[in-house]
Amino acid sequence: MSMIKKIGVLTSGGDAPGMNAAIRAVVRAALRHNLEVVGIRKGYKGLIDGEFVPLASRNVSNIIQRGGTILGTARSPEFRTPEGRQKAYGNLVGASINAVIVIGGDGTFNGAGLFSSEFDIPFVGIPGTIDNDLYGTDYTIGYDTALNTVVEAVDRIRDTASAHDRMFFIEVMGRGAGFIALHSGIATGAEAILIPEVDGQEDSLHDYLKSQGNKSSNIILVAEGNSVGGAEQIAKQIQEKYPEYDVRANVLGHMQRGGSPSAFDRFLASRLGVAAVDALMDNQRSIMVGFVNHDIVHVPFNKTINASKNLNKILLDVADILAH
Ligand code: ATP
Repeated sequence: MSMIKKIGVLTSGGDAPGMNAAIRAVVRAALRHNLEVVGIRKGYKGLIDGEFVPLASRNVSNIIQRGGTILGTARSPEFRTPEGRQKAYGNLVGASINAVIVIGGDGTFNGAGLFSSEFDIPFVGIPGTIDNDLYGTDYTIGYDTALNTVVEAVDRIRDTASAHDRMFFIEVMGRGAGFIALHSGIATGAEAILIPEVDGQEDSLHDYLKSQGNKSSNIILVAEGNSVGGAEQIAKQIQEKYPEYDVRANVLGHMQRGGSPSAFDRFLASRLGVAAVDALMDNQRSIMVGFVNHDIVHVPFNKTINASKNLNKILLDVADILAH
């Protein structure tokens, strides 16, 4: 028999579409187990400040289709300190919360793992980040929606690029991960894709620019953290070196985070939310629930934090073959 009677749920790090669907799933799955649920506002900041709100089934009505997070999110430098975590512990004990489900990325799981090694309160994580960069799950909540948002934006830019025979460098999110750039690049027929996981792409970009002949438009997708630079910087350099091209840059920015979650993200969030509560009921702790080969898996926080998720570099060849 589980000793857990009351759980907390929070969203932390960058927001991602589908976080609300995950909160809804956690609340309703917990109620099925006769647990009380408390929403913790603004991630670990709210845990330290004691910003708790009771969540009943009707409090999570009508949110499955909403982007952002009804609980809010924040970065909390204080949670990185022993004093901050001690305060958080005091608040959890004071509110009789026996376990916490955190929805976020690897930083969030790092904090959760550390906290539950110091205090006897189990934490379970749900992967929520648009970057899809977490080891141990094929997909993170928000990635599919962000990908579709990027595809729609790139299609629009392609229209104007074709009309004016222009070359566009389009910067997409993914600080250390090229999943969004690579997959949206293939989906939009991008002529080139620059991602952080591959070095020496400057040479191949120049090879492409020298060799390409009769294209009426060129779309080059640039992941934020790639080694060549940001879209604006690259566009400037390329314009100087190749005056024959009409070069533009476009940074998609935060629009990639917003919007109604895709069907897939709602489905993923719903399954992972239920799985996270099941895991707690099964006395699991310090694990992330993930989705691998369309099935639920449990991955220890240590593993998902320390291992890196491989991006399939063969897909760069696929993109290259299809761009010529
Ligand atoms: P995203 O991938 O969207 O950036 P994330 O979960 O990785 O999401 P972070 O800002 O890295 O986002 O982490 C969220 C919060 O987790 C931090 O603001 C901090 O409070 C906490 N955290 C991160 N790393 C640690 C750590 N080493 N020790 C304690 N707390 C941490």
